[in-house]
Amino acid sequence: MRENGLKNKFFFVCALLLLAGGCATTSKFPYTTQVIHSTVYFPVMEMCQADGVTWDYDPLSQVLILKKDNKTLELLVGSDRAILGNAPIRLSRPVVLKDSVVWAPVEVRSYLIPVPCPVAAKAGKEKGIFLRPVRVVVLDPGHGGKDPGAIGKNGLREKDVVLDVAKKVQKELQRCGVVVYLTRDDDRFIPLAERPKIAGSKKADIFVSIHANATRSRWIEGFEVYYLSTAVDDNARALAAAENAPLELEDADFFESISLKAILWDMIQTENRKESIELAQHLGDVVSASMNLKMLGVKGAGFAVLKGAYIPSVLVEIGYLSNGEGERKLCDPQYRKRMAESIAAGIMRFKIYAEGSE
Ligand SMILES: [Zn+2]
Repeated sequence: MRENGLKNKFFFVCALLLLAGGCATTSKFPYTTQVIHSTVYFPVMEMCQADGVTWDYDPLSQVLILKKDNKTLELLVGSDRAILGNAPIRLSRPVVLKDSVVWAPVEVRSYLIPVPCPVAAKAGKEKGIFLRPVRVVVLDPGHGGKDPGAIGKNGLREKDVVLDVAKKVQKELQRCGVVVYLTRDDDRFIPLAERPKIAGSKKADIFVSIHANATRSRWIEGFEVYYLSTAVDDNARALAAAENAPLELEDADFFESISLKAILWDMIQTENRKESIELAQHLGDVVSASMNLKMLGVKGAGFAVLKGAYIPSVLVEIGYLSNGEGERKLCDPQYRKRMAESIAAGIMRFKIYAEGSE
C-alpha cells in the first residue's frame, strides 16, 4: 500500500513538473540589441515604435522625455542619470548617441513597460525602509577551469553545476528587468580576488557567489547562505578553507593586496554586513521554503571571494555533492531549474525589501 502511495505521489509530481514545463513562458528581449562597452543596449526609438511609447527630444539640452501610460522617464544623452516620475535614478550605464541613434541599456525598458516576472509570486511583497536600489546583480559561479571545486562520488563537478544554475538564475532575473552579469559564463579559471572586482566594474548593487558543498560526513544535506565575517564556527571555518583553496592556484600578489587593503575592507564590510545578512536571510528563507530543503543556516565565514566586494555580498551552497542523494538531485535538470528559480525569487525578495516603499 505504502509503495503504491509513493508511486502515485511520484506520478503526481512528474505531472506537475510536466505541466510547469509546458506552461513556462520564454521572454526574449524584443528589440535589436548591441553590446557597447560590454553592456547590452537597445535603440530607444525602436521601443517607442513597437510599444507605443511617446517621446520628445530637446537637442539643446539632449534630454529625451519618454512617456507610456502614466509613467515618465527622462534620459540625458551621455549620462547615466535619469529621472523616473519625479525621482532621480541611476542607470547601469550612460545613454549613448551612436550613428545618430539613441541607445539605452536594456533595463531602461523595464521602467516603462511592465515585464512578466515569473518568480515574483515566490518573492513576496514585504517592503522595508529604503536601503539601496537593486538594479544590477553580479552572479559568481564558483571555481572553473583548472579548479573543479568539489567532486561528487559519481563524478559531478561543482564548477559545472554552479555555472548551469547561475545561468538559469540570470535568465529568471532578466525576465524581471534586473541587469545580471556573470563573473564567468564558461569553464574558465578566475582568481578569487578578480571576482568582486568584476562586480565593481559592472557597478553591481549586490554580489552572489554560487557553490555546491562537500564534507567528510556523507550524511549532511541542505542549503546554506554565508556572509563575510571573522567570527565563525568550526564547520564554517573548514568550509571557508575549502572554498579558499583556489588561492593556492593563484600568485603571491593577491596576499600582498589583502594585507594592504585589509583595513579599508574591514570598514566597508562592517557597513555592508547588515545588508549582507539581510540578503542572506531573504535568500535562505525563500529557497528553503520553495525547495522544501533543510536550511542549514545563515552564517558568517571568512571567504576570500567576498572580501573586496564593496556591496552586500553572499555565498550560497546549493547542496552537498558529498551526499549521494544531494549529488543525484543536482544532476537533475528540473531540480537545478527549480533551485535557480528559488534563488532568483530570493534575490527579488531582497530587491523588493531593499528598495522600500515607493
Ligand atoms: Zn565552491
